[in-house]
Amino acid sequence: MADRKQNNKNNRRRNNNNNDDDLNPRFRKIRKKVCVMCSNKDFELDYKNSEQLRKFINEKGKILPRRATGACAKHQRDITQAIKRARHIAILPYTQN
Ligand SMILES: [Zn+2]
Repeated sequence: MADRKQNNKNNRRRNNNNNDDDLNPRFRKIRKKVCVMCSNKDFELDYKNSEQLRKFINEKGKILPRRATGACAKHQRDITQAIKRARHIAILPYTQN
């Protein structure tokens, strides 16, 4: 009995993990960004597709941080790798000006 109660509590906590911001009134209005690649299974990151990669760099050519791209850790690593490959084959710039 006590065990089941504990389990329910744990499950609830796990389920609410994504909505932590909702609990804090200061950040209630801010929507947590969802990773584009996790939410869209058809999205294929391609280091040869400069149009696609341009969404993940700023005007200086720097790679945007996760807080800006909204990508999960795994896909942010993929994005970084793709951008670096694209730079190497001169599809994307290392720097602007
Ligand atoms: Zn992801």
